[in-house]
Amino acid sequence: MLKVYIETYGCQMNVSDSELMLGKLIAAGYESIAGPEGADVILVNTCAIRENAEQRVIGRLGELRRFMHRDTILGVTGCMAQRLGPRLLETDSRVSLVVGPDAYRSLPHLLEGAIKGERFSATDFDLEEHYEDFQAKRFDGVKAWIPVQRGCDYRCTYCIVPYTRGPERSRKLEDVVRETREVVEQGLSEIVLLGQTVNSYTDGTHDFADLLRAVGAVPGVKRLRYTSPHPNDFSDRVIAAMADTAAVCEHVHLPMQSGSSRTLKRMLRRYSREDYFNCVARMRAAIPGLTITTDIIVGFPGETDDDFEETMTAVRDIGFDDAFLFKFSMREGTPATRFPAELLVPDDVVTLRFDRLHAAMRSGARQRNMRRLGERMEVLVEKEARKGDDMLQARSRDYKTVIVPGDASMIGKYFTVELTGTTGSTFTGALVHERRALPVAS
Ligand code: SF4
Repeated sequence: MLKVYIETYGCQMNVSDSELMLGKLIAAGYESIAGPEGADVILVNTCAIRENAEQRVIGRLGELRRFMHRDTILGVTGCMAQRLGPRLLETDSRVSLVVGPDAYRSLPHLLEGAIKGERFSATDFDLEEHYEDFQAKRFDGVKAWIPVQRGCDYRCTYCIVPYTRGPERSRKLEDVVRETREVVEQGLSEIVLLGQTVNSYTDGTHDFADLLRAVGAVPGVKRLRYTSPHPNDFSDRVIAAMADTAAVCEHVHLPMQSGSSRTLKRMLRRYSREDYFNCVARMRAAIPGLTITTDIIVGFPGETDDDFEETMTAVRDIGFDDAFLFKFSMREGTPATRFPAELLVPDDVVTLRFDRLHAAMRSGARQRNMRRLGERMEVLVEKEARKGDDMLQARSRDYKTVIVPGDASMIGKYFTVELTGTTGSTFTGALVHERRALPVAS
């Protein structure tokens, strides 16, 4: 039995794709192993969203050589594989396979060829491919990531995704519900629906509102989340479905990218600052206690001091609970490469702005979190905490990380905790009903 190891970089969609690939290879007779030592097949599932993500993978491919014996097959999959295709075979002689996100069905077949010494690049888009018959081998024992949509029809000028994952297409609602039932039977009660612009989901008959209601109605689904939505696709129907469906958690990750309408226009985000504020207000009015996290790009070409100040005021006025901040990274093949060079923001200016925004975000989040000390809430224990013996990492419905005392037998169960402290970003909590699992909704 050949041993396969998959190493995953990038977003949750990539993690989900790795689960699908691993499931497919196990069904084909491979054995999954947790590290590269002793692997007969090493697959590196890659991200192309930022330059440094690709550089990291190139460095890692070099490092992996020391784990490879003469016959080990090294394959590169995912967005970087799609973007570079056969160029990866030319630049690295140890790479035998380059496989894009729509070609994972052919992996067992391609591996057979690679074992015979052949080298392949498979990067065609397949607009019908949803891997419906694959049995994902899930890495997470607490929540299930379920892809509902592949590709993206937006063309944000900085983003490589439409070119690496192709046009948007959605799975049938019945297929998503069937997979949800299967994962609940396996004991998982938290579902995360995945798509590049997940709330633009449509299978031709049903929209994202229908999907939320249908998945939320599956007996045993206690928590329902989704990522990542686009602000333009929050119809009244979707917001009503979020508010009405008990399982939908009171948290939304709502990428803003910039607080300046001028910059948003240059990014081709297709909404203004006012539209974004309006979307936030509509959701907050419908869903009491909603927490909001976001993504922001700093130093987009043409971003002036005034534009940046608008991002600062948006962060202050909206009061995000957390944010992923990124320095702009130019990606080959994206429309942003056509902006005139004089629009590029100097690195030192980008760094200053990034540091200011980061400090403002941290301080705002800390103040909000301090106000919540003493609150009681239900948490789902996800895993052992990184630091500290007998400490566990748990998550509230509104996506707060809470560190609680306990042992591994509590992982995957729900508890009530009281928030006792905060570092500013995470909380510590004390169990209120010691080790009493709340019943799973049915
Ligand atoms: S919506 Fe924009 S940022 Fe998101 S995947 Fe599509 S093109 Fe990229």
